[in-house]
Amino acid sequence: MAYTGKPMSRRGLLRLARWTVFGTTGCLTVSLTYNYFAFRHMGGQALFQGLVSATILPIVLAGPLFFYLTMKLRELAIANHRLSLAASTDSLTESLNRGAFTSAVEAHLDKGASHPRGALLVIDADQFKRINDRFGHDAGDEALREIAAAIREGARTDDLVGRLGGEEFGVYLPNAGDAEAAEIAERIRRTIHACRFAPDGVHWRLSASVGGAVFDRPIEFSELFRIADQRLYRAKMAGRNRVEMIRVGEEDEQPVTRSAAG
Ligand code: GH3
Ligand code: MG
Ligand code: MG
Repeated sequence: MAYTGKPMSRRGLLRLARWTVFGTTGCLTVSLTYNYFAFRHMGGQALFQGLVSATILPIVLAGPLFFYLTMKLRELAIANHRLSLAASTDSLTESLNRGAFTSAVEAHLDKGASHPRGALLVIDADQFKRINDRFGHDAGDEALREIAAAIREGARTDDLVGRLGGEEFGVYLPNAGDAEAAEIAERIRRTIHACRFAPDGVHWRLSASVGGAVFDRPIEFSELFRIADQRLYRAKMAGRNRVEMIRVGEEDEQPVTRSAAG
């Protein structure tokens, strides 16, 4: 219980009761069977006493033991869950960290081997160094949290959001086609730009540039990232606060979407 900080759920209580009863009943059965065969030739009083002790002992000893063990196993499961969460989460922005994001996207790309479809967005905060220089590192951290929250708000529930490092984020859009991916990318850009960020009371307009690659054929993560990152570079070169996207395989042609700064 000490690990959770909150009361056990109904399901947890039921599982605890089930294992305690199940374990105690098992011990009771073994103990009764053993004592029955051990005492049955003695008959009468001795058999009765043997069966009574075979009933009382498991209840007194095995009940609390199974209760304790089930509690400990539960604590272990919670601690494991927290550890794996901490190992995969970026503590500042509460997004997936780079390793966890990459692994999760790679798993998706492998899974969809027969009908792969989706998009990767690479999002980089614009002129972020200026925020640190003017308002300090803590304000920069706050801006990163705001940007991460805006990205999550603009993305769909099942999209994966990760912090790739520094002021750069990745968003993986499973099963998104050209139009949907462009729409989500643009919504994320707009949501970031609409953030109310006012360090030291100064209203500061956040913005980010988005590069995206839409795919509908098997592709490795590294290749997808490379193409999306090239688009991001183009978005920066074109003036920042904009989306540049392309369909994989059309890298030398016109981008699918180019949205002007809002
Ligand atoms: P651009 O529009 O070209 O991307 O310009 P930029 O200033 O955003 O890019 P640049 O690479 O020059 O600077 C990124 C800055 O992000 C520098 C670095 O100190 C800051 N930064 C990276 N990680 C963190 C962080 O965790 N917290 C804070 N406060 N700043 C960070
Ligand atoms: Mg930047
Ligand atoms: Mg950067």
